Amino acid sequence: MGRKPKNQTKRNSKEIPKKNDNKVIARLRGMRDMLPEEHQYYRLVVNKSEEIIKYYGFSQTDIPALENLSLYERSTGKQTDVVSKEMYTFIDKDGDRVGIRPEATPGLVRSYIEHGMFNQPIQPVKLYWIGNLMRREKPQSGRYRQFSQIDLEIFGEAGPVADAQIILIANRIFKDLQIDVQVQINSIGCKECRPAYVDKLAEYYKQRQVRNKLCQDCKKRMLKNPLRLLDCKEESCREARAEAPQIVDHLCEECRDHFVKVLEYLDELDVIYNLNPFLVRGLDYYNRTVFEFWPEENENARQNALGGGGRYDDLVEYMGGRPTPALGWGLGVERIILKIKENNIPLADDGKPDIFLAQLGEASKRKAMIFFEELRKKKYKAAQNFVKDNLKSQLELADKLGVKLTLIIGQKEMMDETVIIRDMESGMQEVFDFKKVYEELDKRLK
Ligand code: AMP
Repeated sequence: MGRKPKNQTKRNSKEIPKKNDNKVIARLRGMRDMLPEEHQYYRLVVNKSEEIIKYYGFSQTDIPALENLSLYERSTGKQTDVVSKEMYTFIDKDGDRVGIRPEATPGLVRSYIEHGMFNQPIQPVKLYWIGNLMRREKPQSGRYRQFSQIDLEIFGEAGPVADAQIILIANRIFKDLQIDVQVQINSIGCKECRPAYVDKLAEYYKQRQVRNKLCQDCKKRMLKNPLRLLDCKEESCREARAEAPQIVDHLCEECRDHFVKVLEYLDELDVIYNLNPFLVRGLDYYNRTVFEFWPEENENARQNALGGGGRYDDLVEYMGGRPTPALGWGLGVERIILKIKENNIPLADDGKPDIFLAQLGEASKRKAMIFFEELRKKKYKAAQNFVKDNLKSQLELADKLGVKLTLIIGQKEMMDETVIIRDMESGMQEVFDFKKVYEELDKRLK
C-alpha cells in the first residue's frame, strides 16, 4: 500500500514531452466524425424532414444535452438497459448526478411541463427536435455511441388520428428521400389491460420447453420485464415466442377501438403497414400504439430500424405534470444516410460551384475580391483561392472543383474593365466587357 510504482517520476512542467506524448489521440470507440461529404447528406435529410414536419404544424424546440440523471431514471425506466448500462453518467463538481441524453423524449416532456405548455393557446402542442444522443452501446455498423435523431412529439392529443398522422409524416419523409420502408405496428395496451396480458405471457414462458429455449438475457427478462421477451433477436428466443399469446387479443375495449381506428386511418391514407404482434419497443413508458420503420427487403431490418415511436399517454403525469396524452417518434439520421448512399440517391444540390474566379497580381486580386462579393450577392455559385497568384495552379484547382467556367482578371483586364471567361471543357477563352459579364454568365450557365 502506498508504494510508488517503479519508473514513476514527477513530471516537471518545463520537461520536454516524451517522444510518444505527441502521438495522435484517436476518437473514442463508437464515436464518429461526420465529414463534409456525409454532411451534405445530413443536410438533405434534415431539410426534407423539416419541410414536411413544418407543413404539419410542428415547431422546432431544443433541450439541453445534460439533465438531472433522475429524469431518465424515472422516464426511460430503470428496468431497461438504457439507464443502467448504456447511459453516460457522472457526478459533476457540485455533486449533482448528471446524465447525457440517450433519447429526446424525457427532456422534451420536462420542458413541456416546466414551461407550462399546457397553457399555450394553440393545442395540441406540436414540437420537433433535431440533435445528438449518446448511448454507450456495443458499436457496430449503423449503431454508434453518438448519433443524431429527428424527433417529433405531440402533447395533448388522445385521438387515434394523431397516431396515424405522425406515422404518415414519417412515411412521407421516407418517400421524399426515396427510401422504401415497412411500417411495423402493434398496440401494447394500457395500464388497465396490459398487466393481465403480461401475466399470461409470463405463464406461457414458464412452460419448461419454452423456457429452455431462452437466451441468458431473456431468462432475466422473465423476471424483470416479460414483455421484452417478445422482441429478443436471438433465433432460439424467436422460436420460443412463436406460440405466445398476442396482446392484440387481450386489449381492453378502449385500446382495441383506438387501435382499430389508427389502422383504419392508415388504410384511408394508403399507408401500408405490417401488424407485428412482437413489436413492444424498448422503453417502459409506451402504451397503446407502437411502431417502427424498417428498411424494406433487409434481412436485418429489425436491427437496422430507421426510426420508431409510439404513444406515451401516462408519461407527462408520471413526470409531475398534468395528465396529458402524448405521442411521438424518432428517426435515426445516420442510418437514413447509410440507406440513401446504399440506394445511390443523388444529392439534388451538392453545393458544387459553377464558376471559379482567378486573379493575377495584387491589384487584380483586390478587384476580384470585390467581384466575388457581387457574385455571392447575385447568388452565383462561385469559388476562389485568393491566396494563389499563379494562374496555372488556380486553373488546376478550378478543374478539380469541376466548375463550368473560370473568370480571369489580370492586369490588362483591370485596366480595360474586362473579364476573360474560360470554358473549362473546351478551353476556349473570350474577353467580355465587365458590364456584360453577368448577361454572359446567365447565358452559359443555363
Ligand atoms: P430509439 O430512440 O431507440 O427508438 O431509436 C430511434 C431510431 O434511432 C432507431 O430506429 C435508429 O434509426 C436510431 N438509432 C438508435 N440507436 C442508434 C445508435 N446507437 N446508432 C445509430 N442510430 C441509432
